[in-house]
Amino acid sequence: GEVTLRKVRDYVWEIPQEGDMRAPARVLASETLLDQIADDKTLEQLKNSTHLPGVRKYNVCMPDGHQGYGFPVGGVAGIDAEEGCISPGAVGYDINCGVRMMKTDLTYDDVRGREEELVDALFANIPSGLGGGGVVEGDIDTVEAILDRGMEWALEEGWAVEEDLAHCEDEGVRHDSDPSKVSQKAKDRGKNQIGSLGSGNHFLEVQRVTDTYLDDVADAYGLEEGQIVVLIHCGSRGLGHQVCTDYLRDIEKAHAGLLSQLPDKELAAAPAGSQLAEDYYDAMCASINFAWVNRQLIMHRTRQVFGKVFDSDWESLGMDLLYDVAHNIAKKETHTVEDGEQRELYVHRKGATRAFPAGHEEVPGAYLDVGQPIIIPGSMGAGSYVLRGGEDSMDLTFGSTAHGAGRTMSRTQAKQDYWGGDVQDDLEQEHIYVKAQSGATVAEEAPGVYKDVDEVVRVSDALGIGDKVARTFPVCNIKG
Ligand code: 5GP
Ligand code: MN
Ligand code: MN
Repeated sequence: GEVTLRKVRDYVWEIPQEGDMRAPARVLASETLLDQIADDKTLEQLKNSTHLPGVRKYNVCMPDGHQGYGFPVGGVAGIDAEEGCISPGAVGYDINCGVRMMKTDLTYDDVRGREEELVDALFANIPSGLGGGGVVEGDIDTVEAILDRGMEWALEEGWAVEEDLAHCEDEGVRHDSDPSKVSQKAKDRGKNQIGSLGSGNHFLEVQRVTDTYLDDVADAYGLEEGQIVVLIHCGSRGLGHQVCTDYLRDIEKAHAGLLSQLPDKELAAAPAGSQLAEDYYDAMCASINFAWVNRQLIMHRTRQVFGKVFDSDWESLGMDLLYDVAHNIAKKETHTVEDGEQRELYVHRKGATRAFPAGHEEVPGAYLDVGQPIIIPGSMGAGSYVLRGGEDSMDLTFGSTAHGAGRTMSRTQAKQDYWGGDVQDDLEQEHIYVKAQSGATVAEEAPGVYKDVDEVVRVSDALGIGDKVARTFPVCNIKG
């Protein structure tokens, strides 16, 4: 349907509250980015989501937003944890899909000429694609320990060092998790996927830093021009997907009354305080733990591969984790809401990244004075960014910003417009080496299917929700 947008100020647009909306909604975008969501369901979905009970202040769409399941990818909703609800569709199917960036002491000069050797070694050693197993062959007990303790499990088992935990959102563990709330079917799906990229949009990319912007912050993060870094993007695999599926079905059934009042069935939500709200939250936290371990095991394997290729070990190569940050989660957080009141909210961030500023108590010690790192991938043919949590994020976005460039083209359309082999050849002309399990994946993820990441980041920076720290460019990339 038609959605009215009113300009509040540069880059801030509002859908005014009307009818059964419980709050207004906001879109943070430039005119160019707005044009790119004019013909899909992004705005309608954003507007619909304000019908959820307990929505506080406004629901917000980040500059990279596009349509998703019920709620836009790029959507943020702060919903009252006492009087509101929690909605699995506003978290996303891939629970704790997220990114981590690992630094190295290598420079582009060390890697030039050896890209193909490196990408082959990564591709051979990092499980990816639909089959393929994981870094660990797990049984149900292993899966349950991971669901329970997240990165603490990885530390106990020798897959991580203390510093890795200190450089993860929530230190890599959600203590609210309850593995008994995760179905057997979900655990079975997770069992042979512990430490695996999966397929489609997930990737591991070696990059070089091309620019730095805020020198003091870049220093605090240990980033400089010419440096090689590694970006890992993946989530909770079949396990998280199954948890979302299971709870959507149960919630649709048990809370059909609430559902019947919502404009879209995909927004199914469990009222705060209900058994299903608690159970979903605990199962979601367990899936979040699984995803952190997944990314950790992939990083561990990457350290080994670099050690082999560069005839050294990861410590000597300076392969420290910069940060791991989730972009499909909900979390109980306290925020200032519309009337200046402090409320505990289920902050839903779906395709949105936490962006806490300097001084926030949840920013890790090493970054407390500069703000948390935010990692924004662009595409395999464009730049990616490291930002820092901006001063205005708490006020404007419940402490959030974008999570990527955002798609502009469907996967089906992409496969009609692009041919995997040609995309790979074009990238090689630019000295970017891509290896994938399937040519279709390369076509679906062709650089042209994504929006302009520079424009997304420009808006984030201008709004002061996430400030530009460094830009990177791909060197080589593996995909499922
Ligand atoms: P999502 O989590 O919504 O699938 O995507 C996150 C973002 O990753 C996308 O919006 C896109 O901008 C970015 N992206 C997708 N594929 C690649 C890739 O191969 N390399 C890099 N650097 N970014 C990518
Ligand atoms: Mn994902
Ligand atoms: Mn993702």
